[in-house]
Amino acid sequence: MKRLEIMKRAGSRCEWCGTDARAESTRRGGTPGLQIHHGFYGKSVEPWEYEDNTLYCLCDDCHEKAETARRAVYAELARIHPKHHRDVQLLLRQVQSVVKEGEASLSRANVQRVDQSDDDVIYL
Ligand SMILES: [Zn+2]
Repeated sequence: MKRLEIMKRAGSRCEWCGTDARAESTRRGGTPGLQIHHGFYGKSVEPWEYEDNTLYCLCDDCHEKAETARRAVYAELARIHPKHHRDVQLLLRQVQSVVKEGEASLSRANVQRVDQSDDDVIYL
């Protein structure tokens, strides 16, 4: 089952904030507290047909943030004329590459995020 594969990939933790599903389950009285976030929804795409790299294991709070963020991104994309979509796709791939390089660089520098704020990062 795709859902279980994605949760296993995430080590049963939120892939955004790191919340541990088992700890969350205890705190919420048995509710796992993790959901699978879809980076997009296709009109006639079956649940098992989504590529793994478009699915994310997120806690309830981060899933809500992700849904809001996705709507904002889609709203911005809607303002771009379809004749420019190919250029936007290429730019987004370049941005994603830069983001991945940044994440790898942060990981190598042993940087640890210590709270939920996007602004407060402590370097160890
Ligand atoms: Zn989370």
